Amino acid sequence: MSGQNVRPIRVRFAPSPTGFLHIGGLRVALFNWLFARQQGGVYLLRIEDTDLERSKREYVDSILEAFAWVDIISEEPVAYQTQRFVLYKTYIDRLLDSGKVYWSDPVDEENGQSVIRFRLPKERRQISFNDLIHGPITFDTDQLGGDFVVARSDGTPLYNFVAVVDDTEMRISHVIRGEDHIPNTPKQILLYEALGAAVPEFAHLPLILGPSGEKLSKRDAATSVVEYRAAGFLPDALCNYLVRLGWAHGDQEIFTRDEMKKFFSLDNVNKSGAIFDMAKLRWMNGVYIRQRSAESLANSIHEQVDPDFLKKCSSAPYVWSAAQVSHALELYKERVATLVELRDLVIALHTLPSLLPPPGEVLWNAKSGALLGNFVEHLGRLEELTVGTVERVLKSVCIEHEIPLPVLAKPLRYALTGQVNSPSVYALVVLLGYDEVVRRINHLRSIVE
Ligand code: GLU
Repeated sequence: MSGQNVRPIRVRFAPSPTGFLHIGGLRVALFNWLFARQQGGVYLLRIEDTDLERSKREYVDSILEAFAWVDIISEEPVAYQTQRFVLYKTYIDRLLDSGKVYWSDPVDEENGQSVIRFRLPKERRQISFNDLIHGPITFDTDQLGGDFVVARSDGTPLYNFVAVVDDTEMRISHVIRGEDHIPNTPKQILLYEALGAAVPEFAHLPLILGPSGEKLSKRDAATSVVEYRAAGFLPDALCNYLVRLGWAHGDQEIFTRDEMKKFFSLDNVNKSGAIFDMAKLRWMNGVYIRQRSAESLANSIHEQVDPDFLKKCSSAPYVWSAAQVSHALELYKERVATLVELRDLVIALHTLPSLLPPPGEVLWNAKSGALLGNFVEHLGRLEELTVGTVERVLKSVCIEHEIPLPVLAKPLRYALTGQVNSPSVYALVVLLGYDEVVRRINHLRSIVE
């Protein structure tokens, strides 16, 4: 088959709504979408819902929601196969008339009911296609398991048939899908030929593998896109991770959407499966989180993770302002891999004092309370709390008492955060403000003294 394709570029992602959108599915959709963007083509979504028993509206909704979230949108109205049965029937009738498909003899069928089968060529022959990822692939008609079923006894058409009708009607130029569909391709090519329709180009993407090297399963990692959304992954980070899984552009890791669109090419897609690496996805998500403003992180936490986030931050005893919440997000975004972790750290900072366990001896000695008291006195005299002024005060108290910085900074950090590690204590003092710092210090002293 010639590699030169003069047809307008039109691609589609065609999920069956028998479950939530899988990250493998998102990756296939993303590759289709990028290919369309790269080539100046059109990306379409088709819902393959002909399996009435297993398809559910709930899954359709969730698939649409997942694509809205990652902003991969069909450029023409979404096609639903269940709305196209009349069309399929005209195609079946045409093939029945020309004898290319036939009603089988019921006695030959397992359940004793006649079905419509495709008549394989009498002479054994080879069916070849040039897969844009795997290269030339050839099947023998012998390998197809005999005349295959295209419609059930009640006339409902099956996957291979409807996919070919739809890809023809939708003028799909390139079928880009998971490599588990390679065995369907020769059957589909025979159907295109029978219909006298143009055969699209095919590109079969390697699957995402779990650590064991088997197809990624629920046992290895969350597999549905909605789970990643709820766990606080950003859509751009997830897409960036998925595009890099089995595709490379030099050794660049972080791609904006525009860069992905510019550089994407099927030529650079690996032939072999790619192993899903949660640590890398988490790293990448952290990179994207750090690029986001506090306001946009607050919005994403609200939308994806916790609609009550802001309410929690402004509830008693510490009524934080929006600016304080933003400040906390800015400080903690440096230290997290997901929005859930970010939410948890900010909420923990907010609600901490009520939960504060007594500090250990390393943090607290007989003088700590008085030192903190002295720090607070100096703090109260400051006209303005900034990282610089707070730092100066803290250092001058240490000099006055002839102690190394950590002797004061550690109990202070503990009073403010309940942790031994945290963002800069100076910044935390500024964020919490004088009154809250005093209350937190007094609270800690009341526990210890
Ligand atoms: N509905 C099929 C699936 O979900 C689509 C296969 C194809 O893209 O042709 O696997």
